[in-house]
Amino acid sequence: MKPVPFNWNSSFELSTIGSVRDRGISKNTLKRLAILGSTGSIGQSTLSIVEQFPDRYQVAALAAGRNVDEAFSQAARWRPRVVSLATEELAGELAARLRQSGVTGIEVVYGAEGTVTCATLPEADFVVSAIVGVAGLEATYAAILAGKPIGLANKECMVAAGEILTRAARERNVPILPIDSEHNAVHQCLRVGAHAEVKTIWLTASGGPFRQLPLDQFAGITPEQALKHPTWVMGRRITIDSATMLNKGLEIIEACRLFNVPPSQVRVTVHPQSTVHSLVEYVDGSILAQISVTDMRLPILYALAYPERPASTLTFDLAALRHLDFEQPDFQRFPCLRLAYEAAERGGVHCIALNAADEVAVEAFLERRIPFMGIPRTIEKVLASTPEAHPATIAEVLAADRQARQMACGLLG
Ligand code: MG
Repeated sequence: MKPVPFNWNSSFELSTIGSVRDRGISKNTLKRLAILGSTGSIGQSTLSIVEQFPDRYQVAALAAGRNVDEAFSQAARWRPRVVSLATEELAGELAARLRQSGVTGIEVVYGAEGTVTCATLPEADFVVSAIVGVAGLEATYAAILAGKPIGLANKECMVAAGEILTRAARERNVPILPIDSEHNAVHQCLRVGAHAEVKTIWLTASGGPFRQLPLDQFAGITPEQALKHPTWVMGRRITIDSATMLNKGLEIIEACRLFNVPPSQVRVTVHPQSTVHSLVEYVDGSILAQISVTDMRLPILYALAYPERPASTLTFDLAALRHLDFEQPDFQRFPCLRLAYEAAERGGVHCIALNAADEVAVEAFLERRIPFMGIPRTIEKVLASTPEAHPATIAEVLAADRQARQMACGLLG
């Protein structure tokens, strides 16, 4: 069956764009993946998709971090051409273990350069960018320059360097397919309309664990309470970011960059069931929503298979669905949302500072050095002391990121 042709106008084509089909990758062609962040939760979910669709996907490269045990078992199972670890020492350890087990033909590299080697490997047809934080930025950019279609799970890349990444992707007709569940949902809903027909992109938010907590109790929130997310199981920083709703703030910026819309066209609705992953409202009054199981394997599969939709077992039980709630977010209890809109409006260095200051502040909160509401306070101060600037290169982005981190550290003492 032939996939339905796209109806995206040039504005969308400028953002996430380009059909994989147009690039000559057809249905029965095996895709060889480079997975950046293979030992993290998105990386592992990606490998479980590869496991389920062995005739569609193969593993060409794995960029792991510091988890040598997991990297070893992944390398032994998937036999990629290259594996990268964080340091030379860890790479040496992995190489020795592979040798001892009689696993040959795998090149082990390391560091930022190693990640770039994985991202630009000539044998790789598709890059899954799932390294958390700006650590994944250089490799993601290198992959775009090398013309690799990207499945993007790393929202910090889009927040910090969205202008640069989307420009490079546009120039090379490289598709960037969002794996972040909300943006993935938006991408799906946008396929039926044109850019000029979009009124509002509605990002859904679970509201986190403190959705109903009275404002006067926010001062006493502990890291243990904040680490309990009601619907998604995720990493530590993103779980805290969900509790402050800064995560949704980053996603507002991510949506502006990916879909080429101003912040005023991106809104947040609190939807505690996390069943509708996001919505697109069109100018005629129609609202399209994407509903599916709360399982990251689905957006990963969508990104890997785009523009096709392979049959999967990730079914959603519509009969179990009782009701859907949508509420206005409370900007008073969640000042991070307001800060994110401000950063989104100013763009450039302010988006970088928002992300960097938050990462530093979240760490301080987890170490019990600042209270929960100290996170937005720190971000606000850093944003206020950041002069307007628009980095033009990845090096400038990384420099601005370091500067914002230093400023946040300085404020926290
Ligand atoms: Mg998300």
